[in-house]
Amino acid sequence: MNGPVPVEVLKQHLIDPEICIRCNTCEETCPIDAITHDENNYVVRADTCNGCMACISPCPTGAIDNWRDVLRAEAYAVDDQLTWDELPVQDDALAGQGTIGEASAGAAGGASGASGASADSSEPVIGGSDLVRGSVVPPWSAAKPYVNLYNHKAPVQATVVGNYRVTDASTESDIHHIVLDFGKQPFPVLEGQSIGIIPPGTTADGRAHHARQYSIASPRDGERPGYNNLALTVKRVTKDHQGQAVGGVCSNYLCDLKKGDVVNVMGPFGSTFLMPNHADSHLLMICTGTGAAPMRAMTEYRRRRRMKGATGKLMLFFGARTQGELPYFGPLLNLPKDFIDTNLAFSRTPGSPKRYVQDAMRERAADVAALLRHEHTYIYVCGLKGMEDGVLQVLQTIAGEAGLDWQTLWQRMKTEGRLHLETY
Ligand code: FAD
Repeated sequence: MNGPVPVEVLKQHLIDPEICIRCNTCEETCPIDAITHDENNYVVRADTCNGCMACISPCPTGAIDNWRDVLRAEAYAVDDQLTWDELPVQDDALAGQGTIGEASAGAAGGASGASGASADSSEPVIGGSDLVRGSVVPPWSAAKPYVNLYNHKAPVQATVVGNYRVTDASTESDIHHIVLDFGKQPFPVLEGQSIGIIPPGTTADGRAHHARQYSIASPRDGERPGYNNLALTVKRVTKDHQGQAVGGVCSNYLCDLKKGDVVNVMGPFGSTFLMPNHADSHLLMICTGTGAAPMRAMTEYRRRRRMKGATGKLMLFFGARTQGELPYFGPLLNLPKDFIDTNLAFSRTPGSPKRYVQDAMRERAADVAALLRHEHTYIYVCGLKGMEDGVLQVLQTIAGEAGLDWQTLWQRMKTEGRLHLETY
């Protein structure tokens, strides 16, 4: 007897275009190139995604953690998803029937769903899959962060209370220190977290601009201690990655803000790139350009806390093209040498050889190795995308020369929430 032909219901992985801040983390993390994007949306290819979950945990907003049960033959095509302004509603008749497919959840080490709503995402794999290069868990002593308190539909309004340039006026690189005040509205943050800024206006085709993400540059107790405010470090984008003149929508909006202007803010975001709070933890911070923002936040928190008994070391490697392009150059140099071990690297100083953060790290190999040996050392890397490979490479070299097995150490640091990478 022939029964009815079984209808295959797919649990289709989708990205919520309303929440997504287009940070590219998912596309970069996906080991099988199932995620793509255009200037409008980030989307998942139904015929490629195997539900490995590698992308779920690194997503700062949880936009990645969306699923719809659909007939496999009627799965949403990439071209459709690219046009969406919001996710389609779940067809009640299919709800709960979907499966991800053969190479299903957990195949590559499932991570926990960011919002807890993931498809059969199984148990979280502490430390994340081998496909993710940094930790997907916070340090054990990190404070508990609040995330996603405000979204694009219900943003919080912050008032600009400061906006000034922190790079030398003679340089092309226009980086601003912008202070936003939240008044009486709750916006609790931790060092290492970021926020979303919703720029006003619309794109050429009339869609509302999507939010852009910015790291918080001030400590949890405020840019001004005891105030409900925070600082950002924003670079005005005037050229695209190919060097063509372009007016970056959000960075120009932010850099042009005046005191008293009101800004729509989403977030906070981020639950792993957080600092340890135990007193004897060491911070090894490596950054370029605006990647200084989270390092400034952590350093300033430690500076304020120092009086209260924090004893761990702070070692900073900070790269820029020239001294004039290094944000916060003056204040950084004013920090006491016995508080922070600062190493600067400039790649375009006229008359001097190019020097990158990796070169500075190599020069200090013995001290970096001493930190690598220490089980209370936490590494933070933030800045230009291109720096990540070089930094991991030099860490491997330094570890190897010191007789440490980098592969083992790397895995352990990831698992213990001690290696944090955020490049963009
Ligand atoms: P868009 O209008 O989005 O882009 C205009 C054009 O410029 C596009 O072609 C785009 O590809 C290109 N472009 C975008 N950014 C750059 C760039 N940096 N260099 C060259 N070309 C570019 N930015 C900060 O200034 N400070 C931060 O602390 C910060 N933190 C971030 C943290 C995270 C986790 C991420 C993912 C990004 C962060 N960014 C930060 C980058 C920020 O989110 C925006 O991407 C950036 O400000 C450009 O936005 P825009 O609207 O001005 O440019």
